[in-house]
Amino acid sequence: MTISVNERVVAAPASSCDAELAKGPWEFDAMPGYGPGASEDDVIPEPIVRRGQLPAAYQRASQEDLHERILAAKAKLGDKLVILGHFYQRDEVIQYADFVGDSFQLANAALTKPDAETIMFCGVHFMAETANILARPGQRVILPNLAAGCSMADMADEDSVDDCWEEITEIYGSDTDAEGKQPVIPVTYMNSSAALKAFCGKHGGIVCTSSNASTVLEWAFERGQRVLFFPDQHLGRNTAKAMGIPLEQMPMWNPRKPLGGNTEAELRDAKVLLWHGFCSVHKRFTVAQIDKARADYPGVQVIVHPECPMPVVDAADAAGSTDFIRKAIEAADPGSVLAIGTEINMVNRLQAEHPDKTIFCLDPVVCPCSTMYRIHPGYLAWTLEGLVEGEVRNEIVVEPHIAKDAKVALERMLAALPK
Ligand code: SF4
Repeated sequence: MTISVNERVVAAPASSCDAELAKGPWEFDAMPGYGPGASEDDVIPEPIVRRGQLPAAYQRASQEDLHERILAAKAKLGDKLVILGHFYQRDEVIQYADFVGDSFQLANAALTKPDAETIMFCGVHFMAETANILARPGQRVILPNLAAGCSMADMADEDSVDDCWEEITEIYGSDTDAEGKQPVIPVTYMNSSAALKAFCGKHGGIVCTSSNASTVLEWAFERGQRVLFFPDQHLGRNTAKAMGIPLEQMPMWNPRKPLGGNTEAELRDAKVLLWHGFCSVHKRFTVAQIDKARADYPGVQVIVHPECPMPVVDAADAAGSTDFIRKAIEAADPGSVLAIGTEINMVNRLQAEHPDKTIFCLDPVVCPCSTMYRIHPGYLAWTLEGLVEGEVRNEIVVEPHIAKDAKVALERMLAALPK
């Protein structure tokens, strides 16, 4: 499901967790790490470095000038173009989106526009890859800034997952048991590279989203004795715990350590191996913030995303995907007070859309997704004007052999409906 959006311009947050977020993204696209706003100093893995390249004229253009140019290019391209905006995208960009939603909703939304030759994906790299895999023949996908990655997706790279698979196969073997179950089923979160989705496709595995993670884990346990879940440890842990799997049977796999930092006995007893990955934005939410919200607003309803750490999910009233949060807010009575644990752009937009309710972010310091933030109107204008001139800039193309296997894992996800 997708939502059409109203045209609206909202200024960038005045105060954020990092003053550098007030700068143009081209000023930090070339930084070795993830840049301002990311809570880690992790270096982006070598093969994933993506540099933004925005001509100076677009960097210097005023907001008004860019606005006019984007509207003019959009009008010229007409039905040949569809612009998609992720829930976490800033409003200066969202105002141009034909559809707003989560990554999977957006990939499907593009299919409802068969005349669109170009899908302009205002999200991050893995989302554009998924859209390319699911796109109709003849549709191309553009990511306005190639430096818009996802720090969580980059925490599981193909080589590390291959190494992990080799190590655990030595322990578990590769034979099925008496019930015909594989020793381990790989499950990747949508927030992962196409190569890892392809890995799951090749090894009897599947993709999940934050909306269907428990259905997908049930699917996996019907076919396997255990699950290797990557890259988000929190979504994996929160989902498996809700299904009754004990924490002792969910060891963490740290790709930098032999056997992921576990003993052979621990791995043999495991039901879910959790990859050592996380979202820098959702990791910021704490139980103390929930306690404070409850003290300040007695009766407040606390809803968080399952990418938050387990103690936060446990302390909240509810946890669910971005779409779950959106629907819960819509369903709340007028006058309700809701404290939300997810990305700030989405929370601010929900507050603007529901003036009859009090909606606020649990984190008092404004901290948007710093990689999503790299999509700036300047990049949108540059890529759109390129299309008008017949030049395709920043196209995302998944290699056919990877797309084929990745599609297998995505189709398994689509077929794994709740019973
Ligand atoms: S909010 Fe977190 S998981 Fe989502 S795109 Fe940003 S870094 Fe990745």
